[in-house]
Amino acid sequence: GLPMTSPDSSTRSSAGRAVAERIRVCVRKRPLSQAEEKRGEADVVRVRDGESVLVQEQKEAVDLTQYLLQHEFYFDEVFSEACSNEDVYKKTAYPLIQHIFNGGKATCFAYGQTGAGKTHTMLGSSPRRPGLYALAARDIFARLAQAEPRPGPGALRVCVSFFEIYCGQLYDLLDHRKRLFAREDGQRVVQIAGLREVEVESVASLLEVISWGGRERSRGASGVNCDSSRSHALLQIHLRARPQRLVGRISFVDLAGSERACDTRDPDRQSRMEGAEINQSLLALKECIRALDQELSHTPFRQSKLTQVLKDSFIGNSKTCMIANISPSHLATEHTLNTLRYADRVKELRKGGKSSLSHGGTGGKTSSTPSPKRNKHLGRG
Ligand code: ADP
Ligand code: MG
Repeated sequence: GLPMTSPDSSTRSSAGRAVAERIRVCVRKRPLSQAEEKRGEADVVRVRDGESVLVQEQKEAVDLTQYLLQHEFYFDEVFSEACSNEDVYKKTAYPLIQHIFNGGKATCFAYGQTGAGKTHTMLGSSPRRPGLYALAARDIFARLAQAEPRPGPGALRVCVSFFEIYCGQLYDLLDHRKRLFAREDGQRVVQIAGLREVEVESVASLLEVISWGGRERSRGASGVNCDSSRSHALLQIHLRARPQRLVGRISFVDLAGSERACDTRDPDRQSRMEGAEINQSLLALKECIRALDQELSHTPFRQSKLTQVLKDSFIGNSKTCMIANISPSHLATEHTLNTLRYADRVKELRKGGKSSLSHGGTGGKTSSTPSPKRNKHLGRG
C-alpha cells in the first residue's frame, strides 16, 4: 500500500532526547483483560523496543475492501503490557523524587481514556501491587531515613494533600469534600485556601490517608453524575522544613477520562458541561507543558482550574512526566489514537526535536496495507 502521510514524524533524534529532561512523555499499554479476551477483542497495539508504539486500525474502503492503517509513534519511553508498576515508576516518577529533594517541583500525570489504566498506575491494584504514589513514598521515606537517622529540628517533614477538580471546582478529599478556592497571593503564588495537609510518618500512614481520600472520591458530589472518570484527582506530597517552609513538592495527577472531552454534544446538559470543562483543562494542560519546555514568557495556566492550581509546576525549577495510558483492544482504537496524538503533541516542538505537525501529519507515522480480514491477534503471536 501507499503511505498515507509523510513518514517523518518522530522525535527520536538524539537532540530530542537530550532536551527531554524537563519533560518526559511516556506511553503505557495495559494487557487485554480476561473479559476482553473472552469477548474475542483483538490486541491491536504493539510496543517496540521501549520507545515506539504501533497501532493497527482496521478500515473499510468505499468498495468494502478492508485495509489496515498502521500508525507509529515515538516517545521517551513506551511500556508494554509486560511492565509492572515498579518498571514504570523507575523511569517516570523516580527521577522526579531526586529533583524534589534538590528543591524542585515535579508533576506526574496519568492521561488516557477511562479504563486504560490511570488509577492502576497511580494507586496500584492491591497493597501487594502498589502504584506510583506508594513507590514514591517508599523512596521519600528511605531517603529521609538515610539523611537523618535521628529526627531533629532541621528534619524534613512529609505532608500530603489530596483534592479533586470537578467541573472547575476544587473539593478537599481529606476534609469531607469541602469546597476550596484557589487565589494568587502577593507574590503571585497560587494558594488553595484551607486545603488540608496531613503530616505522614511512614508509607503505611500515607497509604491510609490516600485510602480515606479515595473513599471521598467515589462518594462524589451530591450531583448524580460525579464519578472518577469526570474529575481530576491531585495527590501532592510536600517536603517541608520546620515550621512550614516548602522545600520540594511532587504532584500526582490522575486525570479525568480523556474520552469525556468528546462529550460536548451529549444530550444531557450536565455531561455537556463536564465535557467542555474537561476538554478545556486538557487543552490548557498540553499548552502549559509545552510552554514549560520552551521557556515561553507566557504560560497560559489561567485557562483552566487544573493548570491554575499547578502553576508552580509550569514555571521555574520544574519537571514534568506524562504517562499516556492506552487500552490494547480494537474497540478502543479511536480513543487510543486520540491519546497517542495528544501525547505526541505535548512533546512536539520540543527544542531540537522534530514535530509531527510541521510535517502535515495528524501525529505519528501512518501507512496502509490491504487486509482481507482482521488480524485478530496482532502483538501476541
Ligand atoms: P482508569 O483509571 O484509566 O479508568 P483503571 O486503572 O481503573 O483505569 O484500569 C481499568 C482496569 O484495568 C482495572 O481493572 C485495572 O486493574 C486493569 N488494569 C489497568 N492497567 C493494568 C495493567 N497494567 N496490568 C493489569 N491490569 C491493569
Ligand atoms: Mg481511574
